Amino acid sequence: MEKKELEECKKRLLEAKAKILERYRAKEETQKRLEEESKEPGDIEDIGQVSYTEELLDNLSQIEIKNLQEIDYSLKKIEAGTYGICESCGEDIPFERLCAVPWTRYCAKCAEEIEKEEGTFMPSYGFEPILTEDIQIERDDISEV
Ligand SMILES: [Zn+2]
Repeated sequence: MEKKELEECKKRLLEAKAKILERYRAKEETQKRLEEESKEPGDIEDIGQVSYTEELLDNLSQIEIKNLQEIDYSLKKIEAGTYGICESCGEDIPFERLCAVPWTRYCAKCAEEIEKEEGTFMPSYGFEPILTEDIQIERDDISEV
């Protein structure tokens, strides 16, 4: 991957993370921190270091927690130099896909296969955080018929 592309993906990951945290900043500390940072656009590197409080996690949907985990995981892979490589087949993930889903672990083909086989959640929606109202709850969680 070219450095420029990698930087772009990193930026998108940090922005996506900031967006989720912004909507749910439960602790004043986090709130202040994010406010301070929002005054200086272009300096969002520190968002990567924000730690999660229990209140924050309580306020997040399962999907958003999973999403944050995937974002952090991707940021770690950038550090490690393994970002952008499909974890299943080892091929480079096309930059267009990484732009759309910067936290993806797999190329489109493998992601599809894994979803089909395991039925596990893959954060394969686009860059804009999905609205919780639009998220379908797992069947087990639905009590009313
Ligand atoms: Zn693959």
